[in-house]
Amino acid sequence: MAVLRREDTSDCFVMPGKMVLPVQYFAGRAGSQFIISLRDERKILGVKCPQCKKVYVPPREYCEKDFTKLDENWVEVGNQGVVANFTVVHYNDKHLPLKAPYILALIKLDGADTPIAHIVSGIDPEKVSIGLRVEAVFADKTTNTILDIDHFAPIVD
Ligand SMILES: [Zn+2]
Repeated sequence: MAVLRREDTSDCFVMPGKMVLPVQYFAGRAGSQFIISLRDERKILGVKCPQCKKVYVPPREYCEKDFTKLDENWVEVGNQGVVANFTVVHYNDKHLPLKAPYILALIKLDGADTPIAHIVSGIDPEKVSIGLRVEAVFADKTTNTILDIDHFAPIVD
């Protein structure tokens, strides 16, 4: 019986390339209500678990701790919060929302237990820090996406 051996790769060719794949996915009931409230009322909603009291922003359908179904347990959270973590994006690509460099942060809004990923603008990337207080700045025009919050800006006292 012949054994197929692939140690000799001299007849294998690799063609480098780059694919651009348009994708879309359904935001789901919780995600859709979240976007509708941003768009129509400029309110940031989360869902609160009736079991463990954890507030999820962005909302989700089930609690990750105890698997309780969360829909319709809506709570409004603040449009201010703190930078829980961040990175500075240093490269440009078509799918990115801004030209580099810009700050992509995890922001824990007042009243929420989970952070939301978003852009922080209005501060030098060298000066951003964990714990910085920021506030949502809503977009002038809706895009029916999370970018109805245009960005978060540092709160100036
Ligand atoms: Zn829970």
